[in-house]
Amino acid sequence: MSVKAIRRFTVRTVLPEALDAVAALAANLRWSWHEPTKALFARIDPERWEALGHDPVALLGAVEPQRLDELAHDTGFLAEAAALRDDLTAYLEQPRWYQSLADAPARIAYFSPEFGIASAIPQYSGGLGILAGDHLKSASDLGVPLIGVGLFYRAGYFRQAIDAEGWQRESYPLIDPDGLPMQLVRELDGSAARISLSLPGGEALHAHIWQMQVGRVVLLLLDTDIPDNSDALRGVTDRLYGGGGEHRLLQELLLGIGGVRAIKRYVAISGTPSPEVFHTNEGHAGFLGLERISDLVAGGLSFAEALQVVRAGTLFTTHTPVPAGIDRFEAALIERYLSTDLLPGVAAADVLPLGAEDYEGGDPAVFNMAVMGLRLAQRANGVSRLHGDVSRGMFGALWPGFDQDDVPITSVTNGVHAPTWTDPRMVELARTKLGTFETAACDWNSPAITDADLWSVRRAMREQLVADARARMTAAWAEQNPGIAAPAWMAELLDPDVLTIGFARRVPTYKRLTLMLHDPDRLRALLTHPDRPVQLVVAGKSHPADDSGKALIQKLVRFASEPELRRRIVFLPNYDIGMARLLYPGTDIWLNNPLRPLEACGTSGMKAALNGSLNLSILDGWWNEYYDAENGWAIPTADAAGDEAERDKLEAEAMYDLIEHQIAPRFYDRDADGLPRRWLQSIRHTLATLSPELSADRMVREYVERLYVPAAHAHRAIAADDHRPARDLAGWKAHVAREWPHVAVTHVESGGVQSPQVGDQLKVRAHVQLAGLSADDVLVEVVFGRARNGDDLADVHRQPLELADHELGQPATFTGTVPLDRSGSFGYNVRVTPRHPLLASPAELGLVAVAH
Ligand SMILES: *Cc1c(COP(=O)(O)O)cnc(C)c1O
Repeated sequence: MSVKAIRRFTVRTVLPEALDAVAALAANLRWSWHEPTKALFARIDPERWEALGHDPVALLGAVEPQRLDELAHDTGFLAEAAALRDDLTAYLEQPRWYQSLADAPARIAYFSPEFGIASAIPQYSGGLGILAGDHLKSASDLGVPLIGVGLFYRAGYFRQAIDAEGWQRESYPLIDPDGLPMQLVRELDGSAARISLSLPGGEALHAHIWQMQVGRVVLLLLDTDIPDNSDALRGVTDRLYGGGGEHRLLQELLLGIGGVRAIKRYVAISGTPSPEVFHTNEGHAGFLGLERISDLVAGGLSFAEALQVVRAGTLFTTHTPVPAGIDRFEAALIERYLSTDLLPGVAAADVLPLGAEDYEGGDPAVFNMAVMGLRLAQRANGVSRLHGDVSRGMFGALWPGFDQDDVPITSVTNGVHAPTWTDPRMVELARTKLGTFETAACDWNSPAITDADLWSVRRAMREQLVADARARMTAAWAEQNPGIAAPAWMAELLDPDVLTIGFARRVPTYKRLTLMLHDPDRLRALLTHPDRPVQLVVAGKSHPADDSGKALIQKLVRFASEPELRRRIVFLPNYDIGMARLLYPGTDIWLNNPLRPLEACGTSGMKAALNGSLNLSILDGWWNEYYDAENGWAIPTADAAGDEAERDKLEAEAMYDLIEHQIAPRFYDRDADGLPRRWLQSIRHTLATLSPELSADRMVREYVERLYVPAAHAHRAIAADDHRPARDLAGWKAHVAREWPHVAVTHVESGGVQSPQVGDQLKVRAHVQLAGLSADDVLVEVVFGRARNGDDLADVHRQPLELADHELGQPATFTGTVPLDRSGSFGYNVRVTPRHPLLASPAELGLVAVAH
């Protein structure tokens, strides 16, 4: 047995002064999406660069002093490094898109439990983390003054291996913070900055703050593995989503409350602006709102008043369409943690109602983090159009009485960071032939790029994937079978000229990893077709506690090990950013077959599309809004199926049919030059139309324009004049809530439509009992549309009515007209909602009265 180290650390390399520029380049994660900088690192030691997984800090720690010395005297190398450092400095300092906006927030805080930035920094598990990383990178490119906040996990996410039985094995390689491109935030006296949280029993949880530089964006990561903590508490940030109830709660208290405290320390030390807007992703960071309330209460506001201020500047993004994906704690546990000094001025009794499922179907013993997230944020969104709709349905109970369409949750469709996810070959092709790689400016239909050019790049990327798959399988074999040479077929795995289908994702059941195995004989026939064979590259991790996910992987691995198939289908272990960057470009078809509508957005297909892969997917998430019949194929959803088994069967058969009758024939239809002209047309169309839309730049701009800027303005308005508007709003809301049970539409009259025809006007006169409210406190609207069965309205429009008359003690009268501009059935109603200039939506208070 080998001796294991009980403690390890990395001795940071001291680089020769002449290599200052190299150190500066390694210290800013911009290298992770800047090919020329990566090329410079590779020059230092190409083999080590590959072996260390493109990690410049590890590389600089590993190269021999002689080599560093050599480089310090290599004028060509030094000139290149200096030029790249100048380029980085310019990138960091020059005004960019955001700097042209007026009145935009001085800073935005972005909270996420995971960040996927580079494969060398495994602080992510899947979609949410990669998205957060891409959000920071695009924010940096656009000059958006974001500050990211997360946790630093000593064991990151697990490494996956597959044993001889096909079963997933997890290991958690320890990460040494000193070996990563980050630094401790330090007080001006040089000591490590520290934040603390009071816990039950008089204990405290302390954390240090790591700072990463992601281009222009600062990312703060909290770390509890410090000597100030008891052994048990050191483990709070041991691993991503580790453990159950209390462990997870501690992580979330740290992320939310500790995260805001970390920002305050950072702002104080660096003398940079405080955030005006807080963006919280999923429920995990929801406690951040409470810390900010606590600060405002210390400044003299009541809880209810402070809540108005916090809501105005907070955006909540939900990323899951399944209730099971939402964080819930026992309410009693929350009560225990909040009945302490944790949040001065904030009582458990104030907090519990925020996360209470006090609506139909809710569980009274539960504290729901998403529900609190929505109640602490004036603005909320889902991550694709369809997911916005699903979210409005899922959380609709919080706004009882409102139609699903009126639920105040909008959507911003996710995007992916193009410089990170576009293969350097594609970038090079665009640069040399089109003169630019700005996604919006590239004309991929231009004859400047010939079909032969494009096809040769596509083939090179497929070949790169094939080589990578062979290397990974051989390495995995060596690890499982030390000392035994890998079987010969591993060197012949896959074929760089065969139609390649990729499928990689986490393995929860809804993603249906094994749908492709539904009819094994049919799949076998596709894979081994004599003229038009298909090959499949599959990857994905199952949650360590999810044996059913592991069983799916096992089923696939076993199928893939059949001797006549193993060259055509392969399961690659340990899906991560490093693999993903080769996998997406190397596939011709990116397959996604979730159970609709359980994929909130899905981003892997976007990353594939940026490289000219065509998508084959269920119409779910982003594909539901971007599929256009030319950029790929839609697997029809068998909504009408009797049960899940039948649905799987119908959808699997449709998928096989598409591959067999449409995809493979188009791919293998070659002209005299050996080029698949029709296929290449689809590639060009995909690149030209989808690339700008799928880019995270588009997503971040949307967040800025539609959500961050309005939130900052709302926050400024409510906090002005020493928070007077917030005090007024809190008082007004309480008053409205008290009076609302007595508000009613008592009577509606209409006229002007004896035998209605298009062009007529409907006159509406509504009598509204306002109880103790004034006419200014309400918005009275006529709601109209097509009348359907059961009197439901479709294609609903609303139009405000004006106050006509209000005598003391009498119902007020509101009038207006509605143009009848369309023939067919017509229905209308009158609805009353609270009105206040500081509300972002008429549904905000969840109060409504309609005529009966
Ligand atoms: C993009 C990506 C994901 C998320 O993919 P989805 O399609 O959104 O599920 C997960 N892991 C890695 C490594 C990725 O690059």
